[in-house]
Amino acid sequence: MDDCIFCKIGAGKIPSAKVYEDERFLAFLDINPVSPGHTLLIPKKHVDNLFDIEEPLYSEMFQTAKKLSKSLTKAMGAKRVGVMVEGFLVHHAHVHLIPMNHGSDLNPANARKAEPAELTAIAEKIRKQI
Ligand SMILES: [Zn+2]
Repeated sequence: MDDCIFCKIGAGKIPSAKVYEDERFLAFLDINPVSPGHTLLIPKKHVDNLFDIEEPLYSEMFQTAKKLSKSLTKAMGAKRVGVMVEGFLVHHAHVHLIPMNHGSDLNPANARKAEPAELTAIAEKIRKQI
């Protein structure tokens, strides 16, 4: 979709702090992270609602999330990776992968704007673990 920011990021028309990319998916750091390493995983193909993604893409997306969760855990020294899905702000399916050490870490109210240099450094750290 022409006016979709995640389609533009997926196509590389808008820069992002990339964590992982293949033919079907892109993972990049949220610019307003809830915790350091907060990653967004998107399909490159535009679908509004996550649960409307057809198979096998849907399962492949969660296999990719699983792979990324291991890298995020290692890179960020986190105990777990939390998952959030809501999609009210950007109508392009995405899964939030949030490194966390306590249950209370999974809180959108913790979001704060990150500096581009910080995002670049964290993305590099995570890519090394993939
Ligand atoms: Zn889109």
